[in-house]
Amino acid sequence: MSAKILIVEDEPAIQELLAFNVTQAGFIALRAGDAEEAWQQIRDHAPDMILLDWMLPSTSGVVLAKQLRSEAQTRDIPIIMLTARGDERDKILGLESGADDYITKPFSPRELMARIRAVMRRHIPTLANDSVAGGGLELSPDSHRVTAQGQAIELGPTEFRLLHFFMTHAERVYSRTQLLDQVWGTQVFVEERTVDVHIRRLRAALEVTGLDGLIQTVRGSGYRFSTNCP
Ligand code: CA
Repeated sequence: MSAKILIVEDEPAIQELLAFNVTQAGFIALRAGDAEEAWQQIRDHAPDMILLDWMLPSTSGVVLAKQLRSEAQTRDIPIIMLTARGDERDKILGLESGADDYITKPFSPRELMARIRAVMRRHIPTLANDSVAGGGLELSPDSHRVTAQGQAIELGPTEFRLLHFFMTHAERVYSRTQLLDQVWGTQVFVEERTVDVHIRRLRAALEVTGLDGLIQTVRGSGYRFSTNCP
């Protein structure tokens, strides 16, 4: 599943720009215009990372960062502070408030995404949307491309998510219920045999390159992605 990034920014144009870049990079953008809305989004959607503007109406970004760090449920969410201030003293103050990194406005989308990925790699490596490779397959979440033995293959969105999950969790067996939770999400109701349908489609897509054996059935347990022979 894609990482959810909460953007806490009161200026609509900047909020829009941030949401656009975050979405383009394959993440889910959540938005809040102040601390109160931020808490609401955190309660409702449990974001994986927070982009936090320093200058917010009423509660400032620095105060909000401190609050987030003091609560058990939000203590470990990585925070990147955004600000127009560029001097060293403010940078130190921002990092002391609990931010993991700091970016000064105006920033380029490239710089922003590089910071997001760096912080994400450190804290939640499985959500960083890095390309993954294994067993002759290469999958790039950014461009939604998969190659098998160097040859591009077409996958539907569910097969793509399923393969991404398998490749980032190789060699472990997952039951159908676990796969539904991880790949489809807990919000949707789908029957367990739906998993089998998509596994079949995934294998069929890989079959042309002879890599369908990477998706293995483990009798009585479920499925696994393995580069070893079953
Ligand atoms: Ca602001």
